[in-house]
Amino acid sequence: MAEVLVLAEHSGGEVRKVTGELLTAARRFGEPAAVWAGPGAEEGQGRLAEFGAVKVYVAGGAEFDDYVVAPTAELLAALAERVSPAAVLVAGTIQGKEIAGRLAVKIGSGVLTDAVDVTAGGGRLVAEQSAFGGATIVHSAVRQGVPIVAVRPNSVPAEPAPAAATLEDAGVTVSEAAKGARITERVVAEKSGRPDLTEASIVVSGGRGVGGAENMALIEKLADCLGAAVGASRAVTDAGWYPHQFQVGQTGKTVSPQLYMAIGISGAIQHRAGMQTSKTILAVNKDPEAPIFELADFGVVGDLFNVVPQLIEEIGKRAQG
Ligand SMILES: Cc1cc2nc3c(=O)[nH]c(=O)nc-3n(C[C@H](O)[C@H](O)[C@H](O)COP(=O)(O)OP(=O)(O)OC[C@H]3O[C@@H](n4cnc5c(N)ncnc54)[C@H](O)[C@@H]3O)c2cc1C
Repeated sequence: MAEVLVLAEHSGGEVRKVTGELLTAARRFGEPAAVWAGPGAEEGQGRLAEFGAVKVYVAGGAEFDDYVVAPTAELLAALAERVSPAAVLVAGTIQGKEIAGRLAVKIGSGVLTDAVDVTAGGGRLVAEQSAFGGATIVHSAVRQGVPIVAVRPNSVPAEPAPAAATLEDAGVTVSEAAKGARITERVVAEKSGRPDLTEASIVVSGGRGVGGAENMALIEKLADCLGAAVGASRAVTDAGWYPHQFQVGQTGKTVSPQLYMAIGISGAIQHRAGMQTSKTILAVNKDPEAPIFELADFGVVGDLFNVVPQLIEEIGKRAQG
């Protein structure tokens, strides 16, 4: 059976959730082989085994941590030429998409990004993408070379399927050309204790309707009683009411949680672009004509300052009961 290369997303030895999702998807097309760039493979091996990695190609050199994305693209290109995989799957993160693009150029293959599912159709890999606020579902296949697909986090449920995850030295030397952009400093973001926005199962986002920075505390309170991540519309981040790294949308983060709560958000196309693939969408807005209601599975027409505290109270009661 042909191998399917899966680029493991990890932070040191900690495997990110999306990697389990990619390995689950990879099993549909062949034998999943994880690719580990940077130190920490021994610590991550257990998680990779849990989700079906038959082997793990390890390139443990510090250069994969020190030089942005180019060394990882080179690593994948060398492995793709050596093992002729059925496909290469990467996470549809900003970094993952850049690696996918570089890899495609290096090996002369087609690349598909922002896939929300991957299936086998007519003997080839078919990627599903969502366009125009979710109004159009696109199915695409790569016609040249090895399909390279960037799959959005939270799109494919991770299902365990234990395998050996045997570590194997990738045996790849990074070229000087790939060392053009060096990382000189890393600043660890302050941890809020909330889940990562792009990986959270529930996201609660606040929009201009919250009326000011001080009222984002209400959004945080709702998020905390659900164990959710906090997001924001661009109106909120541009106004300085909440940090930019929490912006959801075309020019912000792309999220695809089980539940997305849009509080005081109108539902502009650029906001939808970042959340339209959420499994269930709930909107609270005082304007019954707000476009977000076209997309929402559940909508509450009302003043958020009236609705949200009641929601928090009710969730609190249920959590106790
Ligand atoms: C190139 C480009 C890129 C962009 N990228 C992004 C992006 O990545 N993400 C993004 O979000 N936007 C993006 N935008 C901006 C986007 O077009 C919208 O302007 C923005 O999403 C609006 O944010 P909002 O819904 O919070 O505000 P508004 O559109 O002002 O909506 C506020 C909503 O709150 C409701 N409301 C007000 N008060 C209350 C209340 N008390 N209770 C309940 N509801 C209330 C109102 O009825 C209204 O529907 C981009 C725009 C451009 C041009």
